[in-house]
Amino acid sequence: MSKPRTYQTEAIIIKKIKLGEADRILSLYTPHLGKIRAVAKGVRRPRSKMAGHLELLTHSLVSLARGRNLDTVIGSQTINSFLPLKSDLRLTSQALYAVELVDLFTADNDENYPLFQLLLETMHKLCQGNNNELTLRYFELHLLNLVGYRPQLGQCVSCRSPLKAITNSFSPSAGGVLCPRCSQNQFYSYPLSVNALKVLRFLQSNDYDTISQLKIGPELCQELEEVMRNYLQYLLEREVKSAAWLDTLREQTRQTALLQDKDDI
Ligand SMILES: [Zn+2]
Repeated sequence: MSKPRTYQTEAIIIKKIKLGEADRILSLYTPHLGKIRAVAKGVRRPRSKMAGHLELLTHSLVSLARGRNLDTVIGSQTINSFLPLKSDLRLTSQALYAVELVDLFTADNDENYPLFQLLLETMHKLCQGNNNELTLRYFELHLLNLVGYRPQLGQCVSCRSPLKAITNSFSPSAGGVLCPRCSQNQFYSYPLSVNALKVLRFLQSNDYDTISQLKIGPELCQELEEVMRNYLQYLLEREVKSAAWLDTLREQTRQTALLQDKDDI
């Protein structure tokens, strides 16, 4: 019998599912292999040596053996455990939201190196814990760009006329902003303030270092979150599980029960 072929890759652990008594199926987001799913044997046993290196939200160097269906993890070493993301529930929820979006918007084995870089950079930014809402909006916009759903913010997506500095509309089904005239024919569109449009454009066309200087008030912050949420939900045609979880967290002041359940997130 020939030995199974093995390979090694960097990976961010983006999802885990229980399998049998002590195993898990992991979704790994990698720089050059895209998303891969692999079996990690025995990692739910308390004494598993690999478990710590294969926790959700960990950046690891993973060795795998090719299998007929799923590959199997045969070794792993932590590159960055992103501890701050695991020790603060708010940061945990934000980072889980980011990895869930990557999971939902990608197919298996589809290389997207810029997306890997974006996710890694986002996890570093989230660890710093300041301006995280803007970090998430930036992440959403650039993720959409990298998976082929870049929203059109430069001109009216329908009549192509330049947008005036007045309240326009965002239309998820049209994939961008509509001028007031065009939005009259669009049932499913939302008002978009001048400032919200400015911020979205700014986020879309700058890098993390530039946008970290930006300060916005809570009202605008909420408007941006809603616009992006509606668009993402439209695209996914379903609730983003972690987004709902973020809302729950906001409403609750005591979250200890959730923490105890963290294993099955
Ligand atoms: Zn128009």
